[in-house]
Amino acid sequence: MTVAADVLEIDDALAQYDPVMGLEVHVELNTKSKMFCGCPTEFGAPPNTQTCPVCLGLPGALPVVNARGVESAIKIGLALNCEIAEWCRFARKNYFYPDMPKNFQTSQYDEPIAFNGWTEVVVDGETYRIEIERAHMEEDTGKSTHIGGATGRIHGASHSLVDYNRAGIPLIEIVTKTIEVPPAKAAAVARAYVSMLRDLLLSLDVSDVRMDQGSLRCDANVSLKPKGSSTLGTRTETKNVNSFRSVERAITYEITRQAAVLSSGGKVLQETRHWHEDTGVTTSGREKSDADDYRYFPEPDLVPVAPSREWVEELRATLPEAPSVRRARLQESWGFTDLEMRDVINGNALEPIVATVELGVPAAAAKKWWLGELARFANEQGLELDALSVGPTEVAEVQKLVDDGTLNDKLARQVFEGLLAGEGTPAEVIEKRGLALVSDDGPLLEAIDRAIAANPDVVEKVNSGKPAAAGALIGAVMKDMRGQADAAKVRQLLNDKLGI
Ligand SMILES: [Zn+2]
Repeated sequence: MTVAADVLEIDDALAQYDPVMGLEVHVELNTKSKMFCGCPTEFGAPPNTQTCPVCLGLPGALPVVNARGVESAIKIGLALNCEIAEWCRFARKNYFYPDMPKNFQTSQYDEPIAFNGWTEVVVDGETYRIEIERAHMEEDTGKSTHIGGATGRIHGASHSLVDYNRAGIPLIEIVTKTIEVPPAKAAAVARAYVSMLRDLLLSLDVSDVRMDQGSLRCDANVSLKPKGSSTLGTRTETKNVNSFRSVERAITYEITRQAAVLSSGGKVLQETRHWHEDTGVTTSGREKSDADDYRYFPEPDLVPVAPSREWVEELRATLPEAPSVRRARLQESWGFTDLEMRDVINGNALEPIVATVELGVPAAAAKKWWLGELARFANEQGLELDALSVGPTEVAEVQKLVDDGTLNDKLARQVFEGLLAGEGTPAEVIEKRGLALVSDDGPLLEAIDRAIAANPDVVEKVNSGKPAAAGALIGAVMKDMRGQADAAKVRQLLNDKLGI
């Protein structure tokens, strides 16, 4: 492979082609037992210790639907503004794969439990609507481990091991319709969508949504069409991308790769592709055709699922506030302008500010620290705000010290600097760095005397009826005190002294 011919620059790719994108997200539910049997679902148990005749697909074993799994599916469907089927069935998806003991996967085909929904994401302050085609119930497969090869993949392996603990764990597959957003935003919107889904699923308490443990997995379908053309290109499906950042990178990579293939006269193959986190590329997986015949048919061993409208409405009533509604409510109660709120969202500072305000800090002050000092540090370190060693508790402590006159903003910034450098609690940083404001009148009056003595011309102006000139004296005192004085108090003392 020659690197130069592999990909185009993203700007060149988007100048010639429009990406067409759809996302499939698999969510592992956090039910205590599997979807069709009573086996436990704990992550990390020794291989093949959480299995039974049902999830091993032994002859004669009969599945039973996990009611909590159906409940979670309905909640997810409702939170994505879907219609909930009055009646639907499971279907057998037949294919052979060693990690699937039954040789079919119990899934849903033309009768998903939830369909025709929509949701919204915000990128760079713009809101984009994403249409949801369906959310359906299915079960996870087992897990193969290939031994002896260099890459951990089956090619070159000497043998493979299969762990069926994961076989039968409930999954919800959420499928978008074609995502229609400005081409340059496609990859960022995809990332924002998966990130939004994680927050939504967490708030519903239906999954632990750990991308690193595979409980939230994203497959990205990407194809390109020449600008202005309505003919769809051949799509690839990049599998199991396992972080938000990777979603954006993998889609960007596929756009640039397909553009290079097409612009050099080649053909994009319809195939699954694997994303490689370390090298930042996708490689060819399994060839796929639309004619893949899974011989779907209704699962004869399971009764249809027919959730009553009463149950659906009961579940709807338990849903948490929708993210967009919540944002509007917070903006109103904080008194932020649209622009301020956009800065907060773009800075990923919404949750830290919420938590800080809950500790009694005024919203404006919380915003000032999170988008100022703390954002700057996080940026420099390449960290998210919630990964900093300073959290809402510390911000509230520092703000309290500002409120009671121990610190001014300038000193507070230095306290944050100390906190981020790991110098201890706010009190310890103030002690070590000698940062507290001087509150005794004595030293302040001495500094005022020094300022007056050093600036006779200013005093002259004040005495000749220009009290505004006293500002220069306040500045001189503050400088003398190395900023560790309360400016309002200095003004008061100075005014007394000069008889203003
Ligand atoms: Zn089982």
